[in-house]
Amino acid sequence: MNRLALHWKILIGMLLGLFVGFLMKEWGLQGIVVDWVKPFGTIFINMLKMIAVPLVAVSLIVGLADLKDISKLSKLGGRTILFYLFTTACSVSLGLVLANLIKPGLFINESSRQSLLEGFAGEANEKIKIAEATREQGPLQPLVDIVPDNFFGAMTDNGSLLQVIFFVILVGIGLIMIDERKSKPVVDFFKGLNDVILKVIDIIMLFAPIGVFALMAALMVEIPDFSTLGALGIYGLTVLIGLALLIFAFYPTLLYMIAKVTPGRFFRAISPAQLLAFSTSSSAATLPVTMERVTEHLGVDDEVSSFVLPLGATINMDGTALYQAVAAIFISQAMLPEALGLQTQLMIIVTTVLASIGTAAVPSAGIVMLVIVLGQAGIPEAGLALIFAVDRPLDMCRTLTNVTSDATVSALVANSVGLLHEPQPENADQ
Ligand code: ASP
Repeated sequence: MNRLALHWKILIGMLLGLFVGFLMKEWGLQGIVVDWVKPFGTIFINMLKMIAVPLVAVSLIVGLADLKDISKLSKLGGRTILFYLFTTACSVSLGLVLANLIKPGLFINESSRQSLLEGFAGEANEKIKIAEATREQGPLQPLVDIVPDNFFGAMTDNGSLLQVIFFVILVGIGLIMIDERKSKPVVDFFKGLNDVILKVIDIIMLFAPIGVFALMAALMVEIPDFSTLGALGIYGLTVLIGLALLIFAFYPTLLYMIAKVTPGRFFRAISPAQLLAFSTSSSAATLPVTMERVTEHLGVDDEVSSFVLPLGATINMDGTALYQAVAAIFISQAMLPEALGLQTQLMIIVTTVLASIGTAAVPSAGIVMLVIVLGQAGIPEAGLALIFAVDRPLDMCRTLTNVTSDATVSALVANSVGLLHEPQPENADQ
């Protein structure tokens, strides 16, 4: 059992969790799962989140210090942002094309529309309220939010990864600029600490199969009954087709054409991170594992991965962008088809790219930012209630896509600056 590769262990944990959750729900024992199983999933997510901020801060300092040159940083930064914008714009466009071809909104009939609108109005209103708070801020607020007024505040739950990245980049630049005799002990300290953090992640990952087992079992007993979701099947399928095209066609093609990374190498390396993204619905919680897999198993130098991946986890959300585009068109087709002119669709492209950048890397964040997209495009926000019932499974799949995209871009950026290595043989099959 110990020799089994990590992704198999996680997969077995997931499937067992789904099975046990299903049985417990059938037997009416949901309470036992919620009280006695779910907490282990929460503990696992907490451990990942606990290590994410120290990992980002320390590995970014080490990565920046290794760059030894500020112009290299701006080159890296420029390419990263370009690749991220490119993949996000492609994802939104794919979402729009699919939603216009399949027209999922036209499959929903009057009675299911009414029952969904009434059944989920409460949840929709709650998300609309959260989005209102974002909308009331001035246009430059996202920029202001990147700069923390207190570094320790940035490291807490109220802060954000972007704030940590901002502070650490300044520290890294400072380290590059001071005399090497003085910077060396500091860098050596952080290098040692970085190794310790990576070991801690290995330890946390020993718990991964149990953690995902618990998460999946809890999911099974908590999500609504699938038989009531029939009318939303085509919508869900449209999102899934788009995400699958990104994961199995778009990213592998980019990787192979640009960086000569074969799909086998790519998926072997990052599948544990993908499975975790799927089970946790949070790119931020998955980040420690994404970083470890991309660096140790895909061969991306940590100078690149320590910068590109934390940034990607916060701003690069291809899966979320595709989902928001399909959802906006779906709601419009179902509620106000006449609003769907070319101008609205162009508006959807622009706002979705921006909204996906602003989406936090936590469960259900995508549906909150969708409110902003709907508002901008003049689509009724109450229509949000239509898509609630299937949002959780779609959240899991779009998070998986978000993480896959971050890993892809890190390899592309590394390749473009000559820092993509052959994976170490001892890591190749784990
Ligand atoms: N859960 C997603 C993530 O963490 C964001 C979303 O809700 O779309 O990547």
